[in-house]
Amino acid sequence: MTFQNSLEFAKQLDAEDKLSKYRQEFHYPQVNGKDVIYFTGNSLGLQPKRTKKFVDDVMKDWRELAVEGHFYADKPWWDYHERLATGLGRVVGASAMEISVMNTLTVNLHLLMVSFYRPNNKRFKILCEEKAFPSDQYMLQSQVRFHGLDPNETIVEVKKREGEHYWRTEDIVDKIKEVGDELALVLLGGVNYYNGQVLDMKTITSAGKSVGAFVGWDLAHAVGNVELKLHDWGADFAAWCSYKYMNSGPGNASGIFVNERHLNKKDIPRFEGWWGTKKETRFLMQPEFDPIETADAWQLSNPPILSVAPYLASLELFDEVGMNALIEKQRKIVAYLEFILKEIDKEVESSFEIITPSERGCQLSVLLHGEGRALFDYLMKNGVITDWREPNVIRLAPVPFYSSYSDMYNFGQILKQGILQR
Ligand SMILES: *Cc1c(COP(=O)(O)O)cnc(C)c1O
Repeated sequence: MTFQNSLEFAKQLDAEDKLSKYRQEFHYPQVNGKDVIYFTGNSLGLQPKRTKKFVDDVMKDWRELAVEGHFYADKPWWDYHERLATGLGRVVGASAMEISVMNTLTVNLHLLMVSFYRPNNKRFKILCEEKAFPSDQYMLQSQVRFHGLDPNETIVEVKKREGEHYWRTEDIVDKIKEVGDELALVLLGGVNYYNGQVLDMKTITSAGKSVGAFVGWDLAHAVGNVELKLHDWGADFAAWCSYKYMNSGPGNASGIFVNERHLNKKDIPRFEGWWGTKKETRFLMQPEFDPIETADAWQLSNPPILSVAPYLASLELFDEVGMNALIEKQRKIVAYLEFILKEIDKEVESSFEIITPSERGCQLSVLLHGEGRALFDYLMKNGVITDWREPNVIRLAPVPFYSSYSDMYNFGQILKQGILQR
């Protein structure tokens, strides 16, 4: 399709967009009395309007039923989280039994490391990407030290090539082969938070498995954004937060995937709590742990219902629309944004450099050569919410649920003004 940098053309695309009606399902912050152009769904997704009812229902059940809500609420609390397993399975490519919803992302990564990072004298190394998200780095380093090992000798980082802004699959695979039978674990971000690159999870998972390592994925930026087939790829485990593309609200419950091959085992190393033991016998309060046959065996505590309810509300929207339709719109709207950026670049004779490779999801990371923070401040003041990374990268993530083609066009105009008035 040939794009045009005009409001008329953008409006035409909106009119043809089957998902445009979902805009009405979300609340928008206001700047100068207007809905903002929201590019930070990769950081915190907008609030779905239907979320309030899900939360209100829990408040009502608690008010009217108190402890009885555990069993007699409309959606009883004791198995509330199970309602997400099937829908989330569809989003990440897994069966319901491989999914659980609990805690928060970094906590879950730590818990999964207990099961899937089991270093011995021979096999102890961990492979990750250079400059991984800080929380993941801290998590890995502290796990390594916890096992009495030295992070410098244990964590192997795959680097980008000199002068390049992305990782090459062959470099990751070669590194996996090089570390070979010393490799205990591959743990990478499926979509990189900084450059927006989607890694070839299928190829990398299979490379890791072929040298005998466990393979896990941090899907914080991938879930609800790109196609995932965790089960078919053969990943051992994965974890994600739900507040980015999945719109569950700040700090709300995280999801995990544990491959079927690791389920229903009593001898797997795992930190355990009463919500991981079989429901049928849980309230007999017996001393022996009897693991649930699903990924719920990793549950420790009774779930924070007020944190899970918004996730369920938002998942309903994903169920309604489906990942295929979201990805289809994503490809087109991101391509349109890329086109707009290049047009504006020509008009203002600036030099934008899109550092996101073609393997991408919603996010474009753009190096604005010669521009500074003042431009970011201008955008924010004019109703464009983006995210600025020093020294001069903006990350722009149109989200198929709630971003419009007109947003892309209008953003281009505001960006142009911001650069010209400098
Ligand atoms: C957003 C993000 C996190 C956040 O972790 P929390 O435990 O939810 O605060 C961790 N890792 C990556 C890669 C992320 O993108």
